[in-house]
Amino acid sequence: MKQPSITAKAIGLLPALPEFLKTYNLLKKSQWWSREQLEEYQVRQLGRILNHAYENVPYYRKIFDERGLKPDNIQDFSDLQKLPFLTKEIVKDNLNELKAGNYHADKFEYVTTGGSTGIPLGFYYEKGVSRAIEWAFIKSLWERVGYNFRDKCAIIKGYVVSSASTGKLWDYSFFGRWLMLSSYHMTEDNLPHYIRKIREFKPGFIQAFPSAVTILARYMKSKGVEPFPSVKAILCGSENFYPSQRELLEDTFHCRVYSWYGHAERVVLAGECEQSADYHAFPEYGITELVREDGSPISNDNEPGAIVGTGLTNYAMPLIRYKTDDLAVRSSIVCPCHRGYPMLKNVQGRWLQEFIITGTNRPISITAVNMHSNVFDNVEQFQFYQEKKGEVVFNIVRKDSYTERDTEYIRSELLKKLGDDVRLEISFVNHIPRTGRGKYRFLVQKLPVEFGSSAVSSEDGE
Ligand SMILES: [Zn+2]
Repeated sequence: MKQPSITAKAIGLLPALPEFLKTYNLLKKSQWWSREQLEEYQVRQLGRILNHAYENVPYYRKIFDERGLKPDNIQDFSDLQKLPFLTKEIVKDNLNELKAGNYHADKFEYVTTGGSTGIPLGFYYEKGVSRAIEWAFIKSLWERVGYNFRDKCAIIKGYVVSSASTGKLWDYSFFGRWLMLSSYHMTEDNLPHYIRKIREFKPGFIQAFPSAVTILARYMKSKGVEPFPSVKAILCGSENFYPSQRELLEDTFHCRVYSWYGHAERVVLAGECEQSADYHAFPEYGITELVREDGSPISNDNEPGAIVGTGLTNYAMPLIRYKTDDLAVRSSIVCPCHRGYPMLKNVQGRWLQEFIITGTNRPISITAVNMHSNVFDNVEQFQFYQEKKGEVVFNIVRKDSYTERDTEYIRSELLKKLGDDVRLEISFVNHIPRTGRGKYRFLVQKLPVEFGSSAVSSEDGE
């Protein structure tokens, strides 16, 4: 592949370019393999990671030994069920035992899920490798709708342009190819500036959180604003994506609206293709299972189940049968694109589309408030609560390691995103209950919030 070095450097890939190319070149071929070839590949990769986990990862050595198992006892996907699920709680309690002992300390990159369910979770990537591999998969996904790294993109994804209080609405990144638009200032007053800027910039693509681009689309539609002729597709990720939103976006932007599903834990990655809006799960990325509440496997086409993934790419911290909070339905249709990938439908993530409303009526998506950093390392659980415009209570269940310093850190990081038209009260609680449907909520919103809610209707997971 002729990869311009400037592109690779800009996304921090240069040291890991061989990893990127290895994965990207594999995907170029493997996406056209038959179902049988793909399954053979998966079984081989599964064997590799299980052997590695058994030899080098203390947690897995214990799990195998307790069950009298050796990696050789797992020869196919049904054998995999001999191993227990890996839950978030287990990861939290065994973080060090899950690290591969044959990797040097400086090969680990600490990351967090950001805690979109209100439960922060930290784990490790292989430094310089995991992100390169991820980019190869993302490139393969987005190429299906014509995206190339050299294309100009407008990005509306929780990016803080300096700080929420400066009022700066955009910035450039990636050698001027990316126009980073603040998703914290999308008010009626500001949206005409956003529209003018995007029109002037002429992006080929818009990368967005569905909740954020929905605000833009609703405004454009209500004012009869013409679509952007340069935009070939809207790339939507990181949140649930509802049919009503897709309709609105297609109607407003007159282009392909493309979405995918994945998360920081990197055990499942699935996206639409050229010809279908169903999710094609990458078999090269991980092994995807759907299970009932009691853990039994689902093999039919109409029963929703929890998504369980075994990552095939992260050897620094293997996640085997990792149980996500997300739901999906399996689909056995053969896609007209002829990829032999397993198909998922109706993917419902943990991301509810909700907004905090600031004192000056700025709607801030909770996905954008999410922190991918160590801010919540000493927090067991948290939840936003809002009943008055411009006022938010942040409830925290503390870990034993929590100190007063954490409060200051959390306050200053949150205010960077919320801005100074929000009064933030931090309060400590012993327990944060689940909803009636057993989910944790990131935000309890008592205000009648107009943005997003009518677009999302009653499907918003509550
Ligand atoms: Zn397809």
